[in-house]
Amino acid sequence: MATALPATAQKGVSCGSASGGKLLRGVRLPPQGLGYLVPSHWRKRSTNFGSSALVKLLKDTGEAISREHPGAVLVIGDMSDEDGGQLRHHKSHQSGRDVDIGYLRMVSTGVLAPPVNKFISFDGQGRSNEESTYFDLRRNWDVIELLLTNKEIGIEYIFVSQQIRTWLLQYSSVTKKKPTVQAYANKVLRVTPGHNNHFHLRIKCSASDIENGNCGYKKSCER
Ligand SMILES: [Zn+2]
Repeated sequence: MATALPATAQKGVSCGSASGGKLLRGVRLPPQGLGYLVPSHWRKRSTNFGSSALVKLLKDTGEAISREHPGAVLVIGDMSDEDGGQLRHHKSHQSGRDVDIGYLRMVSTGVLAPPVNKFISFDGQGRSNEESTYFDLRRNWDVIELLLTNKEIGIEYIFVSQQIRTWLLQYSSVTKKKPTVQAYANKVLRVTPGHNNHFHLRIKCSASDIENGNCGYKKSCER
């Protein structure tokens, strides 16, 4: 019979709220893996720590997107500090459940563009202003769908720009994606300024986060 681990033995527990919490025994996302990359700009900041659920989700999603689209690489920006708490440039990202991820881009022929060491923004036609590349709607939807259909980990929010939200939802409707996935996307895709060059993913508290870290509750984070 399996014995439950004591709370102090659990790794990567999200504690308290995303904008006023901590990360207990943060799990480090290795800087490079199948289908994802933490570029040097963020590596140096040492903000690639998360709850065990978030780190697993990023590894799973990287692997899956690179299987679906060989050569696809998710550019991972800030997650949390090793022990969470306030993080420069962010209000949230405090409890190991948040991560910034660059959008996939393609060259004009539809071929994937290689990842770069920064986030790239897009104009109203989906062209990037710095590199001559385009917003890769099909592959970006596939990333969102992989996140939303992960069997173990729930998604709380995906913050994007208004334009990108519209593109993604229209695409899912026109291509007749599963109604349950479309409804989930409609619910969690939220418009917040500053998300034209990356999306911000926040996962739900896992059962272990709730049990061991009062996850989701403000001012109740015990270290
Ligand atoms: Zn963010």
